This record gives sequence, structure tokens and C-alpha cells, in this order.
Amino acid sequence: MLIASTWWQAALAAVLIPIMPPDVVERSSRSGADVRALVALGPRVTGTSAAEQAAAYLTAQYREAGYTTEVQTFTYPKFEDLGSSLSAAGERLTGRALSGSLAASPTALLVAVPGVGQPADFEKASVKGAIVVVRRGQIPFLAKARNATAAGAVGLVIVNSEPGELYGTLGGEVAIPVLALSGKRGSPLLVNSEQAPTRAGLVVDTRKRTITGRNVIAHLPGISRPDVLLGAHYDSVPDAPGANDNASGTAVVLELARRLAGTTLADRVWFVAFDGEEDGLQGSRDFVNRAESAWVKGLKGMLNFDMVGINDKLLVGGSSPLVAVAQAADSTVSPFRDNGLSDHRSFTAQGVPALFFYRGQDPNYHKPGDTSVNPKLLEATTEVGLEVVRRLVATSQQDALAQPLVRSKRMLAGGALFSHHQVLLPGQSWNAGCSTPTWSWLQQPCAGA
Ligand SMILES: [Zn+2]
Repeated sequence: MLIASTWWQAALAAVLIPIMPPDVVERSSRSGADVRALVALGPRVTGTSAAEQAAAYLTAQYREAGYTTEVQTFTYPKFEDLGSSLSAAGERLTGRALSGSLAASPTALLVAVPGVGQPADFEKASVKGAIVVVRRGQIPFLAKARNATAAGAVGLVIVNSEPGELYGTLGGEVAIPVLALSGKRGSPLLVNSEQAPTRAGLVVDTRKRTITGRNVIAHLPGISRPDVLLGAHYDSVPDAPGANDNASGTAVVLELARRLAGTTLADRVWFVAFDGEEDGLQGSRDFVNRAESAWVKGLKGMLNFDMVGINDKLLVGGSSPLVAVAQAADSTVSPFRDNGLSDHRSFTAQGVPALFFYRGQDPNYHKPGDTSVNPKLLEATTEVGLEVVRRLVATSQQDALAQPLVRSKRMLAGGALFSHHQVLLPGQSWNAGCSTPTWSWLQQPCAGA
């Protein structure tokens, strides 16, 4: 930073200080305000009223920016641990029920089984009617649980062989309660109960609920076949206000919609605020599954923004051609090896090229401290996103010009006339049923009709 040493330098500095032009300041504060508004609702856990209020906020913002919106609801079962533990020798050890475990609270002899829970391991100990303890590793949790059940055990405790708590899923139904303990808490059991079996009380208190999620979809009226889909999840985990994860990405996609509105690019883009991401990409998967496959395949790219409000370096992952587009759009972005742990995965699974915008690890990730972001980073991310959209649409327009059949159709949508260009691929024909500019369109068979 420059330090002014004379009056004229001070005067010059006073003129130069607003480094960002006023419109940029306004835009970044607009994204910052979106993040604050979402954070103020509290943790936006899918299915809660905070999440519902977030969907209403986003709907209102997209409408204000001139877009048609639709809230797409979906349901899924959610396994919840209400507090599970093992009590033995006057000590209560808290653990985590493995997802899919039976909810039950047996009291029985605690028996340590040598090994990792192979059928042969259970033959080495008398486990009929007992709660058994095994070490994590080598075979799946489900196999351990099924082997324990087959040997007559009434409960299973799996001790983590890696540092920290063990959060896991069985990946199938079992007939006994299954608890995971950290290595620190559980390891003494593997030794002690082998030497002198004691009685123990296992409490696995869980429930399975049907959760309703809400994807907020926005596009201009009459735009039914976008080239590009911009998405970000707005849900968060319990106890975390989710400023960076992921009000940040949600605000960037919303700001991109505002910036694109009024440009011809807005005719080529859909915007989606996904719900249920933290419960396993539920919202994006539902979106893709419901859409007609030709519609999904027509996408030139899905741009996903997740955790883009902390850390200076903007990382891009996903499909190599799109990573190259992002690098050409801004040479300061860095490619990274993306493991597909966000909503773009639902799209790449269907063959849609995807680009993932991310700014790396956050010390407050999934913690109550995830309360604020740097608005300048949101603005910087928006700028790169905008340039990538420009480039993708330009490429797609070149492709469209190469198509032999392009028909123009004027249609009535949302009370106004819009000029709509439908690119017809060989084997397709115009279908009026496909022109309804609402989500329900996607549920109607259109391709080749
Ligand atoms: Zn996230």
C-alpha cells in the first residue's frame, strides 16, 4: 500500500483510493448481502423452515431480476442418529450409529472378536446373544454386521482403526444395531472384554424420516433448452450457518443471473439453486433424473459453484475441455484434481461436461464458525463465471450454425411474446408441448415426438 507523505500525494491518494469502480463495489456488496441474508436464516438444513425460507428468498431475488422461477420438490429418506452409545463397566462411550442400522437398545455380554469380523473370526468366540466388538477394516461394515448376525450376536460395535470419529453407512439393512466408536474410546474394549467379558448396554437411537427438498429453478420465460446450466447448492449441514458452504456459490449464481439479464446470453442459460446436496447430492440427482435425457445431453456445460467465498486462489476442476475454457477466460485460475464431491457429479454421471469452481479448504467447513465470506472473492468468481458462459455460448452458437435446420417460432409465454429459436437435430421435430416454459415441461416426452 502507498503511504502518502505530502499533501498533494494525500490528495492524489484520496482520488485514487476507490480502486474498484462504484458498480463493482455495488455488485460485490449485493452478493455479500445475499450471503448475509441466507446466513441470517440459520443452518439451512434440507426439510427445515430455514431451508424453505431460503428457497423463498432466492425465488424473490430471481423474479426481481426478471426470471421465471419454479420450485421443484423432491423427497428422500434420511437416516438420523438421535444419540447412540455403549455403556460398560460404569462408563458411557458415545459413538455414531452406522447409517442403516437397526434402532435397538440391547443389554448383553460384551465380547471382543479377534480380527475384523470374518465368519471364521466369529467362530473363535462365543457370541450367541452377545454384543460383539470388532475392529474396522478389510471387509465392508455390512459384511461385518451380517456375519455378526449370522453368528447370533444381538449388537455390533465397530472400533475405528483410523484417527477420529467414524461416520459411516452400512449400505444395506441389517437386523441388529450397529455402533461405531472412535479408536480412542473403543480400543480398550477390544482388549478388556477379551480378558474378562462384562455386561454392556448398547443404545442405538435412530430414526428414518422422509425429507422434502426444494430446488429453485430460474430462467427467462420461453427458454426451454439452455446451453449452459449454472448451479450451486444452498442447503447446509446442522449447526453450520453455511456462509462459505454454500451461500457463497448460491450468491454467485444469483449475481450471474442479474448480470446476464438483459443480455442475449440469458437466452441460453438456466440457473438452479440445489437443495439436499449435503445429504448426498439429492437435489441435483433428482433434477437430472427427472429431465428428459435429450435435454440433459443438450447441455454444453454445467457450472457448479461450491465454497467460493474464502481463499484467494480460485480453483477449477471437472471436464478438461471446460477447465481449459476457464483458464483461457482467466489465466489466474488453477486447475485442481476434483473428486466430484458436489452437484456437478450428478451431471457428469450423465455425460454432461462440468466445471467446478472452488476455493479450497476452509477451517470453518461444516462448523458453526462458517458465518462470513469475502464479497470481493464472490465478485471475482462471478467475473470468471461470466467469461466462461460467454465463451461456451459462443462455441455453441458456432455449432448451431452448422446445424441444417433452425426454425424461429414466436410463442406466448408468461403473458409476453418471445422470439424463440429451436435448433432441430436430425430425427427431432417441433413439439408445442415442449415449449411451456416451466419445469413440468421436462416431465413431458419431447425428443423425437
Ligand atoms: Zn458444499
